[in-house]
Order: sequence, then structure tokens, then C-alpha cells
Amino acid sequence: MTLNITSDFDGGNIRIVSIGDDRADLAIVRDHLSDFYQWFSFRVTGAAGRAVTLRIVNCGESAYPGGWPDYRARMSEDGDIWRQTDTDYADGVLTIHARPAGDSFALAYFAPYDSDRHAALVDRIAARPGVTRTLVCHTLDGRPLESLTLGDGPKQVWLYARQHPGETMAEWWMEGALEKLTDPDDATAALLREKATFHIVPNMNPDGSARGHLRTNALGVNLNREWHAPSAERSPEVLHVLEAMKATGVDFAMDVHGDEAIPAAFMAGFEGIPSWTERQGGLYTRFRDSLAARTPDFQTKLGYMTAGPGRANLSMSTSQLAERFGAISMTLEMPFKDNIDAPDPEYGWSPARSKALAHDCLETLAEMIDLI
Ligand code: ZN
Repeated sequence: MTLNITSDFDGGNIRIVSIGDDRADLAIVRDHLSDFYQWFSFRVTGAAGRAVTLRIVNCGESAYPGGWPDYRARMSEDGDIWRQTDTDYADGVLTIHARPAGDSFALAYFAPYDSDRHAALVDRIAARPGVTRTLVCHTLDGRPLESLTLGDGPKQVWLYARQHPGETMAEWWMEGALEKLTDPDDATAALLREKATFHIVPNMNPDGSARGHLRTNALGVNLNREWHAPSAERSPEVLHVLEAMKATGVDFAMDVHGDEAIPAAFMAGFEGIPSWTERQGGLYTRFRDSLAARTPDFQTKLGYMTAGPGRANLSMSTSQLAERFGAISMTLEMPFKDNIDAPDPEYGWSPARSKALAHDCLETLAEMIDLI
């Protein structure tokens, strides 16, 4: 029986190079009007009970070749539970081994978070008491970009995710954050809703998400390089979210991402902004270190190099919001690989761990909400 492979669905991405009975050579497709590619998501049928070998042959030129060594692809037979599957990387080729029990299975770079699940999340949370749903704008492809607002307090907290659409763990994090903040039995959530008003954008890039992009919107624009000068033509997503931020002010902001290469969750701050102060920097460091003390799924040893004085990149949201609003602003990165300090051979870094880290972030914020 011949394999059949398709990526013709929301968030799908793969191109067939050649295909046989038990093996296929595949290639990841570039983001539209961009050179970025790394996200893949596709379904395979016709392999029930057989060992199959799927080779992605263009990984050497992908956006982050350092993301492939020690990485394991995620596989699901029911579209719900995603496990790591046997994966090797050598000479620019990612080789995925699978032996599905049933006729159909899915493979992806990380557990997908598709447009249907996004719409269901927004519907479900918006229906809860005290939550306001706002249409921020329509995207270039005509999709709604929505925010959810909750809480009555004076501190203005902005949480936003998936500027880079292939980093689906960011929206799993959002699902965890929204569930906790709207849980009527959660004392931390009650405290946060009393002290702060939360403005939450679960998906900053619905077009890139639906198109199966790694990093860009419908025009191939990296939204996290637009915050110094967003435009209606190139980056309406950033333009309209930033306008909404100007209307509320921003005291605390978290931009949620995934990192391809580093096998750990970590934070990036706003070192090097022109208006940096000891107080602002110290509160960022305190949040980061408190989170690391709270959970073994977050750490401070591995991460990015920090910018020197005056060298912050103000096109990135974290630095722009810290500079413009004086916000305690940060970029949370979660791994595509496993957490090297606490590996889980079956699931690796997962939707469940992304959601749990959101809970820990909110507990940490609650400890500090009077200081920010
Ligand atoms: Zn990112």
C-alpha cells in the first residue's frame, strides 16, 4: 500500500519530493514572500502497522539549523495526544521514524494550535463572567485579530503570543493563562483581577498561523521587527495592538515565543534601551529569578546574549514597550526540544508543560503586582 501525505489543512506545511511504499522524501515550504522556514505539519495515511521513514531533506538551509540536532518530531494518532517519535539529524536531513497502529497519523514540529482551536478558545473564555472581547483589527487576509480583557485593577498588564506563528507552544501557554485567570476558584487569579486589568492577545498572527508559516504574516513580514514603525500596509497586527496599548498604558508585558535551538525555557529582557533604569531592570530580573525558583521548567543559565548599553533593538516589542511605556517587559521563550534539565522522553516539552508554565508566570506576577 502506498503512503499518502497531505498538508492541505489549516497550519499545514510540507511538500512531497518523492514518495514510495514505506518512505518519503519531503521539504518544508518557505513562508510566503519570505526565506524563513522550519515549521512543518502534515498527515500520513496508508501506513497502518508498518515502519515508515520520512526524510525532510531541506533542513540544512532552514531558519535555524541549530534547532535540528537532539530534536524529536511530535506524532499524534488521534490529533489530541502528541508524543515524541524516533528522529535523527545528519547532513541537513531530518529523518523521522514512525510505526503507526492505525491507518492515519500526523507529524508536526510541535503540537499544532489551529484556527479552529483558537476560535473555540476565544469563544469559551469570552463567555466567562467579567471578560470583554474586542476586535482589534482585521488582518491582511481578512481574519479577526481579537483581544480579551479581564480584571478591574489599575495595573495594566499585556500578554500577547504567536507573533511568530510556528511557535505554537506560545498559544498553548495562552490557553493555560486564560483558564487560570478566569477560574472562579483560583485565589491568585482573584487577586490579580483585583489589582490589575489584563489585556490578552492569544494570537498576534492569525494569517501566518493558518498559512503554516514559521515566522511571518501574510506578506512575509516578521512582526517582531515592526514595533518601532508598524504600518497598515505591512503590519496592521502590530499597528493596532500598539494603538490599543497607547490607550491603556502598559505596566507589565509578556511576549510569548518558542526557541528552536535552546533546550530550556528562558527569558529575554530589555537591556540596552536608552531609558533603562536600575529599578526597571531590577524588577525584570526579580521576576525572572522568582520564576526560576518556582519551577524546574524555567531557568536562567541558558538564553540569549544581552544587548550592551544603548544597543537594544527597538523594533522588537519587548524593548519598544519597556522604552515607550517604562513597562516591566519580557520575552518568554519555550523550547521545541525538551527541557535538558528535566527531560520527558515520551512527550518532551509539551502543551501541558506550556500551560503549567503560564500558571507559574501568573503566580510570580501575583507576588510582584504591587511593585510594578
Ligand atoms: Zn519567536
